[in-house]
Amino acid sequence: MASTDPDCLFCRIVAGEIPADVVARTDTAVAFRDVSPQAPTHALVVPLSHHADVASLADAEPATVADLVRVARDVARTDGLDEYRLVFNTGADAGQTVFHTHLHVLGGRTMTWPPG
Ligand code: IMP
Repeated sequence: MASTDPDCLFCRIVAGEIPADVVARTDTAVAFRDVSPQAPTHALVVPLSHHADVASLADAEPATVADLVRVARDVARTDGLDEYRLVFNTGADAGQTVFHTHLHVLGGRTMTWPPG
């Protein structure tokens, strides 16, 4: 049984309690469109289990981190992309606002570097 937090937005999306534009679902992860897209493709891939950030997930469920990357690749492919950006914001100073691990999948336009 995956750990969940009833007060967590992404746990509630995983549970289907809050609507989302779900684009993929596996035994370990759910992918849905970001509500505020920053690129033509902008999805979030989240584990079913609640861990605040990717490092915590890596400690608890290392195989799930790889699953997130595979799902992200498949979401990009579904959108016709073989070039895309994957981002795990980790901590508030890095821009993390939702403290349930999520992998951003961004693509469909030319990206710049460094990020803001
Ligand atoms: P962070 O800033 O890396 O934590 O990313 C959180 C992301 O979640 C942001 O890109 C938000 O636009 C997105 N987001 C927040 N609420 C929702 C929602 O209800 N559905 C889909 N995406 C959301």
